[in-house]
Amino acid sequence: VCNGARALAIDVGGSHATCAVVADQQILASESLPIPDAGAFGGFLPGLAESLNALLKRCGLTPPECAGVAVSFPGIVDPFSGRIFATPKGKYDDSSTLDLRAWSQERFGLPLRIENDARMALLGEWHAGAAQGFDDVVMVTLGTGVGGAAMMQGRLLRGKHFQGGCLGGHLPARFDGRECICGNIGCVEAEASTWSLPGICRSWPGFAASALARELTLDFAALFRRSGAGDAVARQIRDRCLHVWAAGAVGLVHAYDPELLVFGGSVMKSADQILPFLADYTGAHAWTPWGKVQLRAAQLGPDAALLGAIPLLRETC
Ligand SMILES: [Zn+2]
Repeated sequence: VCNGARALAIDVGGSHATCAVVADQQILASESLPIPDAGAFGGFLPGLAESLNALLKRCGLTPPECAGVAVSFPGIVDPFSGRIFATPKGKYDDSSTLDLRAWSQERFGLPLRIENDARMALLGEWHAGAAQGFDDVVMVTLGTGVGGAAMMQGRLLRGKHFQGGCLGGHLPARFDGRECICGNIGCVEAEASTWSLPGICRSWPGFAASALARELTLDFAALFRRSGAGDAVARQIRDRCLHVWAAGAVGLVHAYDPELLVFGGSVMKSADQILPFLADYTGAHAWTPWGKVQLRAAQLGPDAALLGAIPLLRETC
């Protein structure tokens, strides 16, 4: 890194942001802040600066002892200019007008880099987690949506419009499937993700009479619990979701030629019921004459996006 292996890190989520001071593979101090007005991000910047300064103080550090500020953001961004092109629906609508690099220079005298949250998670797992020692990696996050990022030969794939490798959840699993939020039809996340699961369940034959219908929240925790307890409808839906993710995984192997697939996200709390199936399916159906792609669960959880700070700054500063 340009200036020591320390950095300020910000992980922006849907309703919270986490600020941290990181040193190489370690988080020295961190703090989670609720984002008060999801419509506006600019008004939240003073709170972020205050939090980062307090964390620095707690670590006995000053800004010049850090290489820069690294921001993980849930949208399409240009890491070099700091511009934000697309945000989650209805959130942070002002962010395309913000000059985050100028903010960082003014508040800390430090360069700022920003990257998509799925790419940051991959960078973190590569630097300090499940993907250490691999340079050709695809990461998939199974959560509200299905996120993704790809690294080839040790370089993050970004593409001309900064969406390269990030849309693995929007690879079609069916051409005649469910409508997706992205405009496409039958995307992996339209067919198997936390946001699409309630609709999938309600339209499943026999759902109303199933044990699953008694769940207040139709999420994957409920689905795996009910299928484990033997509910037939829950088992059918679970098996279908596993097949959707598996078909998506084969597509990602064919697209990006990885040696390792890392699966993270909240749905992976049920990793023991997901990974073996995905490994068997990709082993049987991915065309990899060189051998077999490895599959691993992510190790760092939400820390990955913070621990991606050092490699991001190292790569782009
Ligand atoms: Zn889609």
